Amino acid sequence: MYEDVSEVLLTEEQIQQRVRELAEQISADYRGKDLLLVCVLKGGILFLTDLMRQLEIPHAIDFMAISSYGAGTESSGVVRILMDLNTSIEGKNVLIVEDIVDTGHTLDYILRNLSTRRPASLKVCALLNKPSRRQVDVPIHYVGFDIPNKFVIGYGLDFGEKYRNLPFVGVLKPEFYR
Ligand code: 5GP
Repeated sequence: MYEDVSEVLLTEEQIQQRVRELAEQISADYRGKDLLLVCVLKGGILFLTDLMRQLEIPHAIDFMAISSYGAGTESSGVVRILMDLNTSIEGKNVLIVEDIVDTGHTLDYILRNLSTRRPASLKVCALLNKPSRRQVDVPIHYVGFDIPNKFVIGYGLDFGEKYRNLPFVGVLKPEFYR
């Protein structure tokens, strides 16, 4: 699989270091509060498990699945919930854990949807951010890395369900998109 990658954008060490920093910040910000991490499946799964391990405060987790690209590399802009949360978020401090914010449509939809459920607070932690691709203005309170406008894979991110297990974030060789 490594031979399918043309460029490593973020190494495993860079990611792990940044996850530790984010966890430290989140631990300080939410100390003494009732924190619920909402992981957006499937891409956020590696980020969630690494982040949780580094958090120094008690927290609960829950999951949501949202439709995104399917097997291609372009967002349709049409977002829907494939799997909803198991728990009520009313009165809770919710932190959404996302893999990547690209056009912003997915996050905008999630924020609108979850805010109607009356959480005590609603914030966002995204490992990757592609600011140059934004179509909808969305708040991201904790950002791992700003990255250029490239379709990336690894560390939870897939292309046609492959490459999620790579420990780094990279760019696929062009011949694999066809
Ligand atoms: P948005 O709605 O912000 O355009 O896209 C959000 C979702 O699209 C992400 O949660 C992710 O699933 C997918 N996505 C956006 N950019 C990339 C990318 O560069 N690589 C991969 N594998 N998925 C992406």
